[in-house]
Amino acid sequence: MAESGGAQIIDGKLIAKQIHWSIAQEITTLKERHDKVPGLAVLIVGERKDSQTYVRMKRKACAEVGIKSFDVDLPATATEEEILDAVLALNANPEIQGILVQLPLPKHVNEQKILLAISIEKDVDGFHPLNIGNLTMKGREPLFSPCTPKGCIELLKESGIAIAGKRAVVVGRSNIVGMPVALMLNNRDATVTIVHSRTKNPEAIIREADIVIAAAGQPLMIKGDWIKPGAAVIDVGTNSVDDPSKKSGYRLVGDVDFEEVKKVAGFITPVPGGVGPMTIAMLLQNTLESAKRMFALEG
Ligand code: NDP
Repeated sequence: MAESGGAQIIDGKLIAKQIHWSIAQEITTLKERHDKVPGLAVLIVGERKDSQTYVRMKRKACAEVGIKSFDVDLPATATEEEILDAVLALNANPEIQGILVQLPLPKHVNEQKILLAISIEKDVDGFHPLNIGNLTMKGREPLFSPCTPKGCIELLKESGIAIAGKRAVVVGRSNIVGMPVALMLNNRDATVTIVHSRTKNPEAIIREADIVIAAAGQPLMIKGDWIKPGAAVIDVGTNSVDDPSKKSGYRLVGDVDFEEVKKVAGFITPVPGGVGPMTIAMLLQNTLESAKRMFALEG
């Protein structure tokens, strides 16, 4: 962690690298003990550039830590039935302990139907309604928690930031980030408020937070004077904005005005290099946990 004119910068890239390293170690041990390695299937439908980049990164990360990746690439024209058949074949494959369907799916496909078809024991993305349902219920544990929210919690933990009893504000309430991270903070005994696009006077609510998780997809929305001095600020937002000074013509910024907020906050994650690398690290971790659970059952 580095200091920066006030806030300590939480180095997600470094924390993720350490997690990758320990996963690789564990996989070597598993291989020795069971003569098997974890298998992750990554299914993509269509040619969306951003989705292809994410899938490429996930497959590369698998190779680096010793997870066997199973690639399923279907054309954008694939029917719902063809996608369902592919998922069912992955469910039945004993070499595979994790299945990830890259979202979003093409418009003609019922996403919910596909996610429901994934075996709950292989749902390493944690989006199966049963896993999400268990996350919402007291005394229940999901088999898997969604990767980006889990990455946010891990960053707080690794930085020594206590959650229990703290006031947390989550900005955003999507199924994949905002809502599950709010549930996970609640399960760890924070008092959680969710801010969304219809919230009146969000700055007054955010100013009360000891922990802010920003996941609105609104570039540089959260300003320095919205933050309580010393608060921990985790910025999930990944927004590309025009930047003629860059060769690509754009740069990535978060939902948090980093330059302003770092002067006030106690901890802050940068964009890029904060939450982003943790998402993949948590996917690998979920896959490893799934494999350990299944290998133990097989004896
Ligand atoms: P969605 O667009 O699905 O959800 C955005 C949420 O933010 C909605 O709940 C919306 O409210 C709320 N919101 C929008 N505008 C405002 C506003 N002005 N004030 C308060 N709340 C607002 O986005 P995602 O959850 O998928 O992603 C959020 C951000 O996180 C994006 O920048 C995305 O790129 C990034 N991301 C990063 C990942 C990573 O690994 N680093 C992974 C996933 C996402 P309402 O419900 O009322 O519409």
